[in-house]
Amino acid sequence: MSGRVRPRTARRAAERAADRRLEKRERARAAEEGGSAANPTYVTSGSQVEARATSLPCPNCGGHCRVLDHTAEAIAGRSLRVLRVECARCAWRGETFVAVVQPS
Ligand SMILES: [Zn+2]
Repeated sequence: MSGRVRPRTARRAAERAADRRLEKRERARAAEEGGSAANPTYVTSGSQVEARATSLPCPNCGGHCRVLDHTAEAIAGRSLRVLRVECARCAWRGETFVAVVQPS
């Protein structure tokens, strides 16, 4: 039957579409709070860093993320906490950027 889409081809097309959707969401996430070094989320104490990072939803499915790794890095002249996070629901992995600012 000509014109019929074979299952494997359809599956690959669906995977590519899902990849494109995820890329779009990850680009959008970079502009969101905590999604990039230029756009960190702010806390007033180091003890709040991990709680804040896990409060931000997964950009892929909106699920809860857990912290895999937590490092302090100097990026663009300021000290940021960079947390590698993984979604507990869909296993998406990414980085969340947190800046600690002392209240004045
Ligand atoms: Zn997820």
